[in-house]
Amino acid sequence: MQTGYLDHLRTVLADIEAQGLMKRERQITSPQGGQVTVAGAGGQRQMVNLCANNYLGLADHPAIADAAATALEQYGFGMASVRFICGTLDLHRELETAIARYLGKDDAILFAACFDANGALFETLLSEDDAIISDSLNHASIIDGVRLSKAKRYRFQTSDMDDLETQLKQAVADNARFRLIVTDGVFSMDGYIAKLPEIRALADKYGAIIAVDDCHATGHLGPEGRGTGALTGAEPDIITGTFGKTLGGAMGGFITGPQAVIDLLRQRARPYLFSNALAPAVTAGSLRAIEIARGADDLRQKLTDNTRTFRQRMGELGFDLLPGETPIIPVMLGEATLAQNLAAALDRRGVYVAGFFFPVVPKGKARIRTQMSAALSAADIDFAIGAFAEAGKEVGIL
Ligand SMILES: *Cc1c(COP(=O)(O)O)cnc(C)c1O
Repeated sequence: MQTGYLDHLRTVLADIEAQGLMKRERQITSPQGGQVTVAGAGGQRQMVNLCANNYLGLADHPAIADAAATALEQYGFGMASVRFICGTLDLHRELETAIARYLGKDDAILFAACFDANGALFETLLSEDDAIISDSLNHASIIDGVRLSKAKRYRFQTSDMDDLETQLKQAVADNARFRLIVTDGVFSMDGYIAKLPEIRALADKYGAIIAVDDCHATGHLGPEGRGTGALTGAEPDIITGTFGKTLGGAMGGFITGPQAVIDLLRQRARPYLFSNALAPAVTAGSLRAIEIARGADDLRQKLTDNTRTFRQRMGELGFDLLPGETPIIPVMLGEATLAQNLAAALDRRGVYVAGFFFPVVPKGKARIRTQMSAALSAADIDFAIGAFAEAGKEVGIL
């Protein structure tokens, strides 16, 4: 390797460490759940988990594991092919049909991850004659996907409808042939819900298509868990989503929408054409997860109850929370080191949280993003709140 290159990388790493921005991964030795077993220097410990995207607690659901095990037996481990060569199973088409029906669209197409779905969407569907108008807080995969496309790019301040209108007018003035507005359905770092009815009204006024990334909504938000469109009554034209969060939490992404959109993606989307088909077990498990999520009003109620309790009691303790109703509850701390210190103080008390700081959130907006789950019992929530009260005093913010 060229002289000095690894030294250069070590300098970059030392800088990350010096700024208090180093991310360290803890190792879990149990299934994902409301409580997890975590390996550490002193052996294994049981911890209450407040940072999984396991909103309905389906990640270790026995019926989903059974469906996956049955598929493993019937179809084997992997496909060793992309979809269009010899990688399409009957199961893949069943999953595509199921997600499209669930979300009320014509058809759907699977990807290895929603990161890939967002990487596929814009480049395939839009050309240099077109315009993409993107919310400033959109997920990294949307930002990267937009970069891959040749379309003209416009950015509006997050959820600022005046700015969205300004950008739409500009796109019209610039003679963009087609205009596509893209937004997260629920913003992953803040937990805010996109203003879809207002976005719909502006889209109709200026003739634009709406694409929503509903990764933090599909399965748990809205009637039957059908996401932000169903919750707000303003349906997006195209939805991208994941099987890696509420819907079983394994992996895989999708795009669902009008038939022509899906048909063209199947012909042209590079992350689809040049990447392996979803494993049979993951496909079958996700299929079962949709069925379970759709009927899981009881789990959705538990998630809502946990969310309300946690928000209320953390607010009463004096923590600075971003307001909202979603199970993403950010505890705002400001500096990265404070977020790290509070996370460490919680860790010592058996609560598993993650500090989020630059580059995941803006500088000076470090936070602990807590996430509620139907897998958390009332006792788990009590335990976590008690730990926050003590840890907050220890780091000097309460
Ligand atoms: C998690 C997430 C993704 C990525 O999904 P994967 O399937 O894990 O790649 C994309 N967009 C948003 C908004 C997300 O929250």
